[in-house]
Amino acid sequence: MAEAQIIDGKKIAGDVRAEVAKEVARLIAEHGVKPGLAVVLVGEDPASKVYVKNKAQQTVEVGMKSWEYKLPAETSEADVLALVNKLNNDAACHGILVQLPLPKHINSEKVLNSIHPDKDVDGFHPVNVGRLWVGERALVPCTPTGSIILAKSVKPNLSGMDAVVIGRSNIVGKPVAALLLRENCTVTIAHSRTKNIEDIVKCADLVIAAVGIPEMVKGSWIRPGAIVIDVGINRVPSENGKTKLVGDVAYDECAKVAGAITPVPGGVGPMTIACLLRNAAQAAAMQIGAKSVFA
Ligand code: NDP
Repeated sequence: MAEAQIIDGKKIAGDVRAEVAKEVARLIAEHGVKPGLAVVLVGEDPASKVYVKNKAQQTVEVGMKSWEYKLPAETSEADVLALVNKLNNDAACHGILVQLPLPKHINSEKVLNSIHPDKDVDGFHPVNVGRLWVGERALVPCTPTGSIILAKSVKPNLSGMDAVVIGRSNIVGKPVAALLLRENCTVTIAHSRTKNIEDIVKCADLVIAAVGIPEMVKGSWIRPGAIVIDVGINRVPSENGKTKLVGDVAYDECAKVAGAITPVPGGVGPMTIACLLRNAAQAAAMQIGAKSVFA
């Protein structure tokens, strides 16, 4: 059997950023509004600092205004809430992202829920979760949106497909299941208590793995020709004594059976920031009462 088509997340993320840049230019030209995205980082987590730097850089590259608020680890919850409140009331700021994880003394749920739903570019606020499930215009979590864009790059119409999502987190599994339902897939959500997971995955035309277990999904689980989207990012020891990134899918085995597959790295990963920028442009359009090309 021929090897699977490799879905190039890096290229497709570039295409999404180009669409965002076009939409930003349109909002400026037609409405005189430059979309603005604020990112709040509390503490010194090295990975978070890299994410925030990349987000800010890409925000500027698509023509948006970017603000970075870097607060010391000992900042009180009240001060973080006060900053979010200030940004909620700042008309120039259309999107607010609070980088997780927050230091332990801060209640993340309380902070995330204090972001105005229309500025909630992560799509984690319960109002946006509800809007997504009832089919209203919502800001949708970024990694799930990116996963669907990648699947649709192979098969633009997913209607009627049997989709299996492995994982039911609020960040990936549940929202990706809601999006698949919106695409008219028949959706099964598997999780840690699911029986006979291998047999369930074998029935899928489309598999989205978001588990956090390195290379859990084996080639023998994949239905020939299926589309496989691997959300997992796991750091494991490599042969040279260093570490390497692998997904939740055993890539080499699965690529021999699947019709199309995302690599790790270079698959879903690059889509997350691209979809964050997409959400910020959508949020700006919503706030000024303009049409958005994204929702
Ligand atoms: P969580 O740990 O929040 O959720 C993992 C899910 O997997 C849970 O629902 C859990 O089930 C399920 N699970 C655990 N063990 C098994 C098992 N043996 N069989 C079936 N299901 C199982 O992880 P996230 O959703 O946040 O992330 C998942 C992966 O995606 C991680 O590798 C993470 O690094 C990656 N990720 C990548 C992003 C990107 O930008 N590409 C962004 C976000 C995450 P239960 O609910 O029963 O415990």
